[in-house]
Parts: sequence; C-alpha cells; structure tokens
Amino acid sequence: MRTQVAIVGAGPAGLLLGALLHKSGIDAVIVEQRSADYVLARIRAGVLEETTVGLLEQAGCVQRLHAEGLPHDGTELAFDGRLHRVDFKALTGKRVTVYGQTEVTRDLMDARLAAGLETVYEAQEVTVHGFDGPTPEVRYRKDGAAHVLRCDFIAGCDGYHGVTRASVPASAITTFEKVYPFGWLGILADVPPARDELVYANHERGFALCSQRSRTRSRYYVQCALDDKVERWTDDAFWDELRRRLPDEVAQAVATGPSIEKSIAPLRSFVAEPMRFGRLFLAGDAAHIVPPTGAKGLNLAASDVGYLAQALCEFYRDRSEAAIDAYSTRCLSRVWKAERFSWWFTSLTHRFPDTGDFGRKMQHAELDYLVGSEAASRVLAENYVGLPMGH
Ligand SMILES: Cc1cc2nc3c(=O)[nH]c(=O)nc-3n(C[C@H](O)[C@H](O)[C@H](O)COP(=O)(O)OP(=O)(O)OC[C@H]3O[C@@H](n4cnc5c(N)ncnc54)[C@H](O)[C@@H]3O)c2cc1C
Repeated sequence: MRTQVAIVGAGPAGLLLGALLHKSGIDAVIVEQRSADYVLARIRAGVLEETTVGLLEQAGCVQRLHAEGLPHDGTELAFDGRLHRVDFKALTGKRVTVYGQTEVTRDLMDARLAAGLETVYEAQEVTVHGFDGPTPEVRYRKDGAAHVLRCDFIAGCDGYHGVTRASVPASAITTFEKVYPFGWLGILADVPPARDELVYANHERGFALCSQRSRTRSRYYVQCALDDKVERWTDDAFWDELRRRLPDEVAQAVATGPSIEKSIAPLRSFVAEPMRFGRLFLAGDAAHIVPPTGAKGLNLAASDVGYLAQALCEFYRDRSEAAIDAYSTRCLSRVWKAERFSWWFTSLTHRFPDTGDFGRKMQHAELDYLVGSEAASRVLAENYVGLPMGH
C-alpha cells in the first residue's frame, strides 16, 4: 500500500490531520492499534478553544458541534468558601466551547467513513522505518498478515505511550518532565451540571473541578493521592468528598446519580524536543503532555496538526519545505506557553504535600490578587481561551 502521509494513531490529532489533509487533496491513511469503539469509549477532554473550533470548521466537522456544543463566556474560581467569576468574553472578546473529546472524535470518524477514507483499526505490532531518508514506511500486522504502508511522510499522532517518539534515536531527542505528587479522580454522570460554567475550587482538602459535557451530563473531579485506587471510591463517597470542597451554594446545586465512568489520571507536564525528525513529525500527546487543569491537551493536539496540515499543503502545492522546516519551532513556541499556563494554574489550585501552611497562604494571596485585578484576570482569561495560530 502507498499513500502520501501515513498517520499513526486515530485520536483527535490523527483524525483531524486526516480531515484537514483530505480537504487539501492530500492522500492519507490512518493506522490505529485499537478498535474504533475502544477509541470512542475513552472519556477525556471537553473544552475547545476558538482556534480548535476553527480547525474543525476548516475540516468540515462542526455541524453537530455548533448545534450541541455549549459556549462558555467565563469560568468561576472558588476559594475561602466564595465564588469569583472570570468573564472571558468581557476581558478578551473570546469564549470557549464545551463539547466532549468523544464527540469530536465521533464526528471526525463519521466524516472519514462518509468520504471513504482509509483507516486501519486494530493494527498490531505497528513500527515506523526509514524516516531519516526519502522512503519512510509504517509496518503492521492485521488479521495475522504483515502489511507495509509506504509514504512520503509519517505523522506520529499516537499519544504519550505510542511507538513513533520511541522510534527516534535517543541522541536526537530531548525530553522535559514534571510529575505532580497527586492525581485526579474523575466521575462522569448523567446529571445536570451544578453551574452553567466550570468551577475551579481551591480547598484545604484538595482541588475540585465542576465540569460538564452537556446540559444533562456532568464531569466532576477531585484531587486524590497518587497511589489512590478507584475501587476504593463508591459513588456516594465521591459525591460527599466533592461537596465538601465546594462553596455551599455550589455544593447544594450538585445533582448526584450513578457514575457512568470513574477513573484516576496522574498529572504530568512533558515535552519532547524537537517535534520533527526527517520525514517523521510528532503531534499532540506524542510530543507533549499538560496537566488537564488548563484544558490545553486536546487544543494543543489540534494546533499542532493545524500547523502540520498547512506545512504539508505548502510542500505538495508549492514544492516549498519552508513550513515543514518551521514546524517544530512553531509548535514548540505555543506548546511551552501552554505548559507554563497549565503548570501555573495547577500550582495555584491544588494542595501540594510539601508546601505547608505558607504555601496555602501564598495561593490564597495570589487568588485574591487575581480576582481583584482586571489586568491579572485578563492574563488568566487570555491564556485559558487560547492564542490564535501563529503564537
Ligand atoms: C485520562 C485523561 C483525561 C484527560 N482529560 C483532559 C481534559 O479534561 N482536558 C484536556 O484538555 N485534556 C485532557 N486530556 C488530554 C487530552 O485528552 C489529550 O491531550 C488528547 O487526547 C490528545 O490527542 P492525541 O490524538 O494527541 O492523543 P490520543 O488521544 O492519546 O490518541 C492517540 C491514539 O494513538 C493510538 N496509538 C497508540 N499507540 C499506537 C501504536 N503503537 N500504533 C497505532 N496507534 C497507536 C491510541 O490508541 C490512540 O487512539 C486527558 C487525557 C487523559 C489520558
């Protein structure tokens, strides 16, 4: 089999790249190790920046997003038992859209199927070869048979544990990592959200987040110990702990119900540099991870593939390699800004085991300053709603 771009991974990065390339008349095949149902069952992000919505528009996949996505003009910060709203729209003129990663993935998969584009699901033993020369290949096994996909370029969209980054010689790559001393215990439930917008709560028992996927589906998180086990948490225990960490007016509005998903995610900051190795490009979680506090993971995956699609388009249309050469630098400039914001927002809102009472006093002083200063609120809002492409 031969294609112009072989994409490894059918998460949001791989699927969006496939859709953007198709719109530009560039042929791509996606090779994914899991089944489509498995990919769709992963409950992850839910907040989309305007840039991400713009890229989905470019890909022609926004009909359902515009009908069902919830525009949010702000968010609320809770500390000292009080709520403070940060008005994104007033401070930046921008908003975010709440629309689950699962729905983004479903829309992109449906569009791919309708256009008759090739996706190989349940590919085993996926490996990448020859990306330091002119003839890269992706090899895999499917239904017991060996396959070779020859291509001009490989896009490594296979997430943090994928094979593409691991295939780069150690001497060619530098990684930066911070592992946080806690995780997030998350619950998804078919109950209406407690508030119209997201609530980020700093509490002495630990961080809590009231998030949502729709008007009838809520996603809540509480900070938990790294070695905590999800089996230790009954739904009732979760709801009790969540309410303890929220101001009374929010706690009383929390509608409870049986969980449809419950999981613990560790928090990590990670960046691999560079993001291009000859004819292999890394994009999304394959190249970087942010703690989910700033809602940046999915949005960074989208902006990476936005730059990559543009670069590949210029290569095939104009025979220019300038944007390909600039890919890694352009992405990393944006990535490090998002890393900084996600680290800062995590540091401000979570309970750290080693910073003690002084650390908590500093968090409260900073939160007080943040909600009391229009300039400081604007900085938070600008980072949260995200930068336009090109920054
Ligand atoms: C538990 C969890 C919760 C999260 N919550 C949030 C959140 O609230 N907000 C936020 O902004 N972000 C969140 N994120 C991050 C966000 O979901 C990711 O940034 C986003 O999924 C990145 O998309 P991606 O396509 O780069 O990678 P992925 O979504 O990881 O997709 C990679 C794909 O590659 C496939 N793959 C892996 N290895 C191979 C291989 N060897 N061969 C072929 N295919 C392979 C995988 O099966 C997968 O389908 C969360 C992440 C996790 C893990």
